[in-house]
Order: sequence, then C-alpha cells, then structure tokens
Amino acid sequence: MIIVLKKDTAPDKVNEMIRRFEEMDLQVQEIRGVHETILGLIGDTSRLDTDDIKSMNIVAEVKRIQEPYKNANRKFHPDDTIVDVSGRKIGGGHFQVIAGPCSVESREQMTAVAAAVKASGAGLMRGGAFKPRTSPYAFQGLRAEGIEYLLEAKKTSGLPIVTEIMNAAHLPLFENVDVIQVGARNMQNFELLKELGKVNKPILLKRGLANTIEELLMSAEYIMAGGNKNVILCERGIRTFETATRNTLDISAIPIIKKQSHLPVIVDPSHASGIRWMVHPLSMAAIAVGADGLIIEVHDHPEEALCDGAQSLTPDQFDEVMQDVKRTVTFFGKQMD
Ligand code: PEP
Ligand code: MN
Repeated sequence: MIIVLKKDTAPDKVNEMIRRFEEMDLQVQEIRGVHETILGLIGDTSRLDTDDIKSMNIVAEVKRIQEPYKNANRKFHPDDTIVDVSGRKIGGGHFQVIAGPCSVESREQMTAVAAAVKASGAGLMRGGAFKPRTSPYAFQGLRAEGIEYLLEAKKTSGLPIVTEIMNAAHLPLFENVDVIQVGARNMQNFELLKELGKVNKPILLKRGLANTIEELLMSAEYIMAGGNKNVILCERGIRTFETATRNTLDISAIPIIKKQSHLPVIVDPSHASGIRWMVHPLSMAAIAVGADGLIIEVHDHPEEALCDGAQSLTPDQFDEVMQDVKRTVTFFGKQMD
C-alpha cells in the first residue's frame, strides 16, 4: 500500500504514523521529498481500510497494491483448491454437475429427481428447503421437513446434498447436509459468513445480484478467515439494464476469478437466464471459459413447480444437456469423477 502525505506534513506527525504501522507488524519505507512524503507499507495490509487511512488529516492519497483478500488470493496459494465432497472433487481439473429442483416440494419429487439426475451423470443434488423469495406470500420452502426429504433422497440415490441456509440459527438442521449454499441475497450477510467460517463443511457461495467480483472474493475471505477453507464460488448472473433474461450471466467473471483466486468456480445457468432453453448454451459457454462445475435446476413436472418452473429442465432435457456437458468437459481436458 502506498500512502501519499499532504504537502509539508510535520516530521513528528510522519514519524507517529510510521510508528503506528510498525506496531501493526508492517514495514514502512519512507520517501521524503522537499515538500512531499510518501510511505510504502510492506506486509499483510489486508487488515487496513483505505477509507480509514484516507480520512486521516495528514493523508492526501492512498493506493492499494495488493488485493484486500489473502486467504482467497492466488498470490498466496498458487495451486487450485480442490474441494472434496464425499469423494466428488470440484476444482483443479475436476468438474461436477449439481442438479435438482429449485425447491424441495415433496418426498416423492425429491427422490424421483435425485434418481433421474444421478442416472444422467450429476455428481451432487440440489434442492432448496429454506427459500429466499421476493414476496412473503410466495412458497417459502418446506424448511426442516425439506431437509428430511433431501436426506432421504441422499440415502436412496447416494448423491451428496447442496442446500441453502438463510439463518445461522438453522445450522443444527444442516448437520448431515454435505454442502451449505449461501444464496445471492445473503452473499454479504457477514454474520452468517462468520458462522460458516467455523463449520467443517464446504460452502457454495453465490455472487450477489449487484456485487463486484472483489466483493464476492471478500465474502469468501470472511468464511476462510474463520478457518473454513472449503469455499466454492458461483457466478449466477448479475442485474443489468437487460430485461431479455432474468439476469445477465457475467461470463467474463469466471476467467477473472480463476486468475485472482485458487477457489473453484461454478456457474448457475438456470438463475442466470431464467429460461429453460438457455441452460444448454450457457452451460457450454461456462465450460469453455474454465468453470469447474454447473448447478442446474431440474424438476419432474416443471409446469407444476412451486418455484422457478420456467427455468427448470425436465429429466429428459437434463439428460440431453448432460450428453454435451460430458463431451465438452472432456474436450477441455477436465474430468468428472
Ligand atoms: C437457488 O439456487 O435456489 C437460489 C435462490 O439462487 P440465487 O441465490 O442465486 O438466487
Ligand atoms: Mn431457483
């Protein structure tokens, strides 16, 4: 970090500032000109807030050289992180498809969809028990009962479960859940992220509707700073001026995130587009730009779905998409194991 001090700052003020940074275990390189002093901070500056420093009386300008996240940063962890979910690997050349309904609606639905997506090659299954809905009058999910049905479907299919948490107080219900999802709307629920930092399970962190890539990585940093290093990132479309699709899939986010971070990145073409037929082309695009997996909504009767039917594939349509997914993943040199 570079700090430019205001012209003609008194030397005792400069020395006081240097001492404060040194007390924080940072090395300070001082360049003293005739009128101007510049301080270069060396060490872990991730704990410093540039706005706080800018607000100091003697500071003219602050420039961050290093990203404010350390745990999630590829600079400090050059190798890809491989997240292992009961033997299903994600990242570092391993590709997984997570599939299932938007919401868990019944025992029969969950068991049937789990069997179908497994037969088509999905490695994990999804299903929301706690649903973040825009309207308080819309279906809110089966909650604890939904988790029960997911666990039953896990038993019959053998597929690990991915499901969303909205409140840390619900954590005891997630004891046998394999991957805990943080939805787009909770990406910056920092208290929830801190609690998930203490959990010994992989976290699927979805990008917020209006959040930057750096903010996504900072949210991952919250979880990792707490000790939980198993974070999978998910690009699920962001809100733009475009109305033709539900969201806009930020396809460039995938290579950027993979350059800046070692964490696996998956893509959600269902929520990104909101349109069933777009799941196939967006899945192909995601694989081509280097995604480590996909999360796809599949429903046995999409027309009767209680949530997101328009973007849900039937098991047959999912099977068709999977044929091309398998071919394309192999073409790009990754394995689905
Ligand atoms: C979901 O995956 O069920 C979901 C609600 O997605 P998002 O948080 O990305 O909107
Ligand atoms: Mn959904």
